[in-house]
Amino acid sequence: MSNPLEKRYNTYSDYFKRTFGERVQKVTIDAGFTCPNHDGTLGYGGCTYCNNMAFNPSYCNPLKSISQQIKEGIEFHLKRYRRATKYLAYFQPFTNTHGKLEYLKNLYEEALNYQGIIGLAIGTRPDCISDEKLDYFQKLTEKYYIIIEYGIESCYNKTLERVKRGHSFEKSVEAIEKTAQRGIKTGAHLIFGLPGETRDEMLNEANIISDLPLNNVKFHQLQILKDTLIALEYKKYPENFRLFKLDEYFDFLVEFLERLNPEFVVERFAGEVPPGFLAGPTWGLIRNDQIINLLKKKLEKKNTWQGKKYKKIL
Ligand code: SF4
Repeated sequence: MSNPLEKRYNTYSDYFKRTFGERVQKVTIDAGFTCPNHDGTLGYGGCTYCNNMAFNPSYCNPLKSISQQIKEGIEFHLKRYRRATKYLAYFQPFTNTHGKLEYLKNLYEEALNYQGIIGLAIGTRPDCISDEKLDYFQKLTEKYYIIIEYGIESCYNKTLERVKRGHSFEKSVEAIEKTAQRGIKTGAHLIFGLPGETRDEMLNEANIISDLPLNNVKFHQLQILKDTLIALEYKKYPENFRLFKLDEYFDFLVEFLERLNPEFVVERFAGEVPPGFLAGPTWGLIRNDQIINLLKKKLEKKNTWQGKKYKKIL
């Protein structure tokens, strides 16, 4: 980041402007995947907080073809960003590398053949990638922008076990390193507020992930969604949870950002689940752009920025 004081953190929109000279918009696709933690490959019932249906934009529907979803997604975004001409096909819900490579190729390549699509962003689990799939993605990077976004969720195995994630933090590190070694971009997703974690432990995750070969990061506060196992746990033992109030979350994010590697592009700071899906506390109707503006103000007030306290390991 050239001037950390200008934006205070490494923003996603600036990153794309630097890389492609213009705005690049993600178009979400629901390709009908399931997840090894749901379909019995690894387990049933999924992670205790999982309710993927809460995250789908309206134009996403696995009954529609990939091309149709992209067409509708582009139309949807064009209403807001008239000048966007470049798009990434974002395979988002569930585990988007869960299948045989031949099957996956058909889906990804249908997306890449759509006019205006310059690459893929693929959300997946770190235990659902293989050398064969990574070799394929490596080949794609010769022509396209490819990023694999891994759900790390927590750097602590005690938490991963508790939320029935089904993989360890070491597995996340292995997948991220193997992906980066092939020149494929890497993303990571963390959730703040998972049961049993202290604020200090969550803050320390900034130090831990900062030394991984990551390009982009996304953060979410834990939201207790209806029809999840964690909603039952929350109802029974609310004292086990440290759910952030909005103000507390900004204070936490400021400290987290100070410790975070300034090279990482921060794509998201919070989740925006529609209130109807929530079975726990809500922040009310606050949009992601409002959260970003409030966070920037907080960073300015404290005259601080992403990476201020980060020390690179040589
Ligand atoms: S890995 Fe993702 S899709 Fe699978 S159960 Fe966990 S949260 Fe749900």
